[in-house]
Amino acid sequence: MSDRRGFFGAAVRAGLGAPTSPPPPTAGLSDAELERYSRQLVLPQWTEAAQLALREASVLVVGAGALGSPVATYLAGAGVGRLGIVDHDDVEVSNLHRQPLHFTPDVGVPKAHSAAAKLGYLNPAVVIEPYQASFNAAMLEGHDLVVDCSDSFETRYAVNAACCAERIALIEGGVTGLSGMVMAIRPGESACYRCAFPDAPPPGSVPSCAQAGVLGPAAGVLGSLQALEALKLLAGLEGALTGAFLQVDLADLGFLRVAVSRREDCPDCATL
Ligand SMILES: [Zn+2]
Repeated sequence: MSDRRGFFGAAVRAGLGAPTSPPPPTAGLSDAELERYSRQLVLPQWTEAAQLALREASVLVVGAGALGSPVATYLAGAGVGRLGIVDHDDVEVSNLHRQPLHFTPDVGVPKAHSAAAKLGYLNPAVVIEPYQASFNAAMLEGHDLVVDCSDSFETRYAVNAACCAERIALIEGGVTGLSGMVMAIRPGESACYRCAFPDAPPPGSVPSCAQAGVLGPAAGVLGSLQALEALKLLAGLEGALTGAFLQVDLADLGFLRVAVSRREDCPDCATL
């Protein structure tokens, strides 16, 4: 896009208009919130207290790509009060088959801003904070939970170490080809990412997305699982994937839950 305003720049010019500002939050759930969240409030596992906890929560999503798109979409839709979106890249046309927060007119627009624009339309009550930057530990301030949707081991270990240092809950995830993994981490209580995977694979030994490829729905499944685990931790639901990781092989629909214990020599979490 020559004007870098993306899909909503074109949409506004076509008369779609901007999202309206939400009313200030009430002590309990407003009628508008009761209607918007009615299909999750009716669940036996979900209560008004859970919904209010979500509204008070602040989540940092690291990466607004293949995993970050479903994660941010479902968290905004569910009513997380504040979402930080971290991504230093611009939208490329080769992203579009697996990153459904970005549309063709967004090519060339920073992903963090492209994502924030869509999420604002999805749920205007959510405060969206885009960071067009690489992850750094200072970004954790004020957040209750982090969902790591990055695509490099370097970032994954950096996010894990920072979340352990600040004792911030973390949902890890990754996808390549038709397989991936998800892990929920409560630092100091359950095994962290480095407890499960003490050493990063040697540089060059794991093919990148560009080399190995990835199917859009495979990323969608893994990202949806990350969003699900985030909602479990935020709302205090049972069954969170802590103390284990889930290995997902979508070629044959294999789901394997692998138990992981905390390591006494873990450089990230042993002293917590
Ligand atoms: Zn650890």
